[in-house]
Amino acid sequence: MSVFDAIDFDSHEKIVFCSDPSTGLRAIIAIHNTTRGPALGGCRMWPYGHEDDALKDVLRLSRGMTYKAAISGLDLGGGKSVIIGDPKRDKTATLMRSMGRAIERLAGRYIVAEDVGTTVDDMAEIGKETQHVSGLPETLGGTGDPSPATAKGVFMGMKAAADHAGWRGGLAGRTVAVQGLGSVGSHLCRLLTDAGAHLIVTDLHDKAVEDAVRQFGAMAVAPDEIYEVEADVYAPCALGGTINDATLPRLKAWIVAGSANNPLATASHGDDLRRRGILYAPDYVINAGGLITVAEASLGHAPETTARKIDGIYDVTRAILDQADKLDIATSLAADRIAEERFRHHGPALAA
Ligand code: NAD
Repeated sequence: MSVFDAIDFDSHEKIVFCSDPSTGLRAIIAIHNTTRGPALGGCRMWPYGHEDDALKDVLRLSRGMTYKAAISGLDLGGGKSVIIGDPKRDKTATLMRSMGRAIERLAGRYIVAEDVGTTVDDMAEIGKETQHVSGLPETLGGTGDPSPATAKGVFMGMKAAADHAGWRGGLAGRTVAVQGLGSVGSHLCRLLTDAGAHLIVTDLHDKAVEDAVRQFGAMAVAPDEIYEVEADVYAPCALGGTINDATLPRLKAWIVAGSANNPLATASHGDDLRRRGILYAPDYVINAGGLITVAEASLGHAPETTARKIDGIYDVTRAILDQADKLDIATSLAADRIAEERFRHHGPALAA
């Protein structure tokens, strides 16, 4: 694939292809925009079928991080990295250290964190080679697993959407279809259950589904059935692109709010959701809890201040949903416009 002509290329500042035959590392680091600060974003490890898929993913994910930092008012830019490989089979300490060396060569322009397929322990390995790492284990003075904070933000964003929709009683008594019961999805299930919501769940791993059924009294469905269950909210908490031409007509939910990055297959699916009367709480607005935690910790802010900022995702979401109504545009577009205003007019980019 030609990078500059790739459909997801968005004038990214820097794209680095990393290869280390001695450890088997094949990775791509994409820095989308550093106008607001160094590019912070997770490292995803995934068995991409083709390197074009990895490139597409990292281009889209890094762009999303720029928007996420800007909408959250953080002095950070957007970046992301992907390692091509199966985390269950191919991940080794030496591979992660090799990734750490690749990150070190970027001299702080990119700061890594965990993402799908990587963990706080992997960050500890990376941290042996570079200081440009966040989300280290708490035992090493880091902020630990960002997923509970992310789940809390998603929950606040979902609540904001429910209130915007005028649901009396918020999420209590409502049914939420949770797709993906990993780190974020499982924490979100707990928060939703505590708020009195009913759950319909799915995952590719039977064990995760069994746990949710046992712990939360959730109803389980097969992965492909989640789109058309009778639920009030669809919460995508697995991978991106799940709202597309094939799934949209099947959706029965009134609200879409989840942790997955880039759940809209294309930007036009934001308009499609709006036309169908489905309220979309934009992904990067509501899944910023983990990023906020890392950014606040780096500023030395107290945990209470961080918690308040994550709770503030409620207000940020409401303001965006109101703005979309006012301008009669898709909520995803309303969020994009606010974010773009913030990172395009923030000041000069960091020196190369
Ligand atoms: P995870 O890897 O812990 O969990 C993902 C889960 O989704 C896994 O259990 C997997 O089996 C399941 N899954 C994958 N494809 C599926 C499918 N087609 N149907 C059903 N289940 C499927 O990842 P996570 O950390 O929980 O992150 C979930 C999503 O949220 C990702 O898109 C991630 O980028 C995004 N996100 C996570 C964080 C965070 O703090 N972890 C922050 C922001 C955004």
